[in-house]
Amino acid sequence: MTESITYFDNASTSYPKPDEVYSACDKYLRVAGNPGRGAHRLAYQAARTYFESRELIANYLGIVDTSRLVFTSGCTQSIALVISGMLGSGALKSGDSVLVTSFEHNAVMRTLAYHERVDEIKVVTVPPGADGTMVDLVALRRLLSAHPTPALAAFTRASNVTGVVLDLPAIAPLLKQYNVPLLLDAAQSAGLIHDDLGADDAISFYVASGHKGFYGPPGVGLLYVRDGFELDPPFCGGTGSRSESLKMPDFLPDRLEPGTHAMHLAAGLAAGVQYVIDRGIDEIYSYENSLMQRFFEATAELDFIEIKGRAPFDPGHLPLASFTYKGHTADRVADWLDTGYGIAVRAGLHCAVTAHKVLNSEKTGLARVSFGAFNTIEQVDKLVVALKELAKIPA
Ligand code: PMP
Repeated sequence: MTESITYFDNASTSYPKPDEVYSACDKYLRVAGNPGRGAHRLAYQAARTYFESRELIANYLGIVDTSRLVFTSGCTQSIALVISGMLGSGALKSGDSVLVTSFEHNAVMRTLAYHERVDEIKVVTVPPGADGTMVDLVALRRLLSAHPTPALAAFTRASNVTGVVLDLPAIAPLLKQYNVPLLLDAAQSAGLIHDDLGADDAISFYVASGHKGFYGPPGVGLLYVRDGFELDPPFCGGTGSRSESLKMPDFLPDRLEPGTHAMHLAAGLAAGVQYVIDRGIDEIYSYENSLMQRFFEATAELDFIEIKGRAPFDPGHLPLASFTYKGHTADRVADWLDTGYGIAVRAGLHCAVTAHKVLNSEKTGLARVSFGAFNTIEQVDKLVVALKELAKIPA
């Protein structure tokens, strides 16, 4: 079935994966012992693979102390670990506020809403800028100078609904000035925008999915904890280290990685990151952006399609866009494309209802196209033909 799919839902999960990723997952599932849990060759091999995967990814991200890069089950778990870990360590407590943009994913918003209820933290939304930016810098400065200062800023690096990228160069110095830690949600940007975590010390916590722009398998994600920040482990268990103690080890990554690791997934993710390294992140970005521009050019004249939340042709945003289709719902557009043409797009709220509130689309949702490294110009043209055909169908 997948043979005939024209896939434009890469912001949900990238598809297909590079061959090396399939091979790595398969290979290390076959030779996997339990890393750190046995004195035999399969356990050693597993430990080596896990270690090397971490080293490769950490080096790519500019992380000097590679033990501070933690493997998780995904970006959602990474975000939850930061919030719960800060609550556990006392860095976040009842009455404290957490700043968010209006474009956060529910991985951030639902986690914070839960702790708002249970731990009485306060979630404060920074309004978007009038010029289509994600954050109004004047409002941000005002909120940062409140007393007490916010305990955390949880900002997405790029919106999964509009593709708009956070103005990190303007925001990072402000957060540093007010000494507010930044949890940067790089779920959408990883593999398209390179954040050098060694150089940018405003990023206190960096979280990413493995299965999107890094082309890894689902089920693995990343959490980087900058030196000087402590997260109390919200869940505990065996680590294969310091087993004589009932306390979790006080060193990373073990402190935040209890239980048996998804070693084959870590190896698959490392293979995906290697693919990004080999092809070049700038090359991937500009290739996918050229597909985005093709889509914008081809749909510019179609007055029944309206791109929401970003100026078409604006450089510097992610290669994804959400749109309305006059006379047809987003669901109808997605269904038309799928059943008639084998084209996959994503309709709905994209797990980011606050973003849709800003765009005034929370009742209807939007249809979203998101490009990947394996899409082609011909596929984009096919999409445009299919979208034009729908215009001939009565609403
Ligand atoms: N943040 C953003 C901006 C996302 O787009 C997503 C996934 N759509 C997540 C967090 C959660 O990532 P995952 O589903 O891989 O845990």
